[in-house]
Amino acid sequence: MTYVGRFAPSPSGPLHLGSLVAALASWLDARAHGGRWLLRIEDVDTPRTVPGAAETIMSQLRALGLHWDGDIVWQSQRGEAYQQAFDALAQRGLIYGCGCTRREIADSALRGGYTNADGERPYTGTCRAGLAPGRQARAWRLRVPPGVETFTDRWLGPQQQDVEHAVGDFVLKRADGLWAYQLAVVVDDAAQGVTDIVRGADLLSSTARQRVLARLLGAQPPRVMHVPLVTDPESGLKLSKQNGAPALDTRQPMLMLEQAWRALGFAPVQVATPEKFLQRATLLWARRFVRHAA
Ligand code: GLU
Repeated sequence: MTYVGRFAPSPSGPLHLGSLVAALASWLDARAHGGRWLLRIEDVDTPRTVPGAAETIMSQLRALGLHWDGDIVWQSQRGEAYQQAFDALAQRGLIYGCGCTRREIADSALRGGYTNADGERPYTGTCRAGLAPGRQARAWRLRVPPGVETFTDRWLGPQQQDVEHAVGDFVLKRADGLWAYQLAVVVDDAAQGVTDIVRGADLLSSTARQRVLARLLGAQPPRVMHVPLVTDPESGLKLSKQNGAPALDTRQPMLMLEQAWRALGFAPVQVATPEKFLQRATLLWARRFVRHAA
């Protein structure tokens, strides 16, 4: 099997240290496996897309020596593929319209006393058996099959989630008419032949539902590795665009790379250029994470 990895940033702002950790780990894992590394711009969520951010991300990656293979995939241009996947599931009776408002969903989860480990409130299935009279479908949900999803995360070890109970029937097409991240990511990973996902640990809780969806679409779920999130030393909050994390300073590429490398738990490499750093780091990464590496 030829390794295919990907980095899939949402263009809601420039890369910061937290997103660099995910980009670097996924680049290193692809190179250490002699694989391909794809870039996918996840601009399905158009209200969150910031004009010019995708171009900034590309130039930041180039400045750090993190070159990608092949053409960039833009999710905003993949509507037809998402529609096809949606139709295929709908034909099998796996999708239903949901008329609940956000408020109603939160209230029914509270009544049921549910909140899962990530503080998410699962959908309790109010519209599963059909819309109440006079109600119109707002969003479209996947009828999640029962069962516990188990997988091994290459960083975090064995994982499991009962998607039906912890998450519930999740949204594939949103009330605002946009495709949901979960559908887009699964359809694209399958279409691009992605074998390995390396990304930040905040997405660990999405993995089980993505595996369920991949299988329903006849795809083999990729292997996963969720790498540590970087937190702000003062607030303790995860670095994110929403929390105002500063953009990477690409005038100091070595400093940025070394900081991301340290956040991944490695000792400093101390070489002069990004090219030398990436060469050395690929070897060290292979020793730790690639089976049979020298
Ligand atoms: N677009 C997502 C983000 O920027 C990442 C999706 C993924 O790696 O699966 O958080």
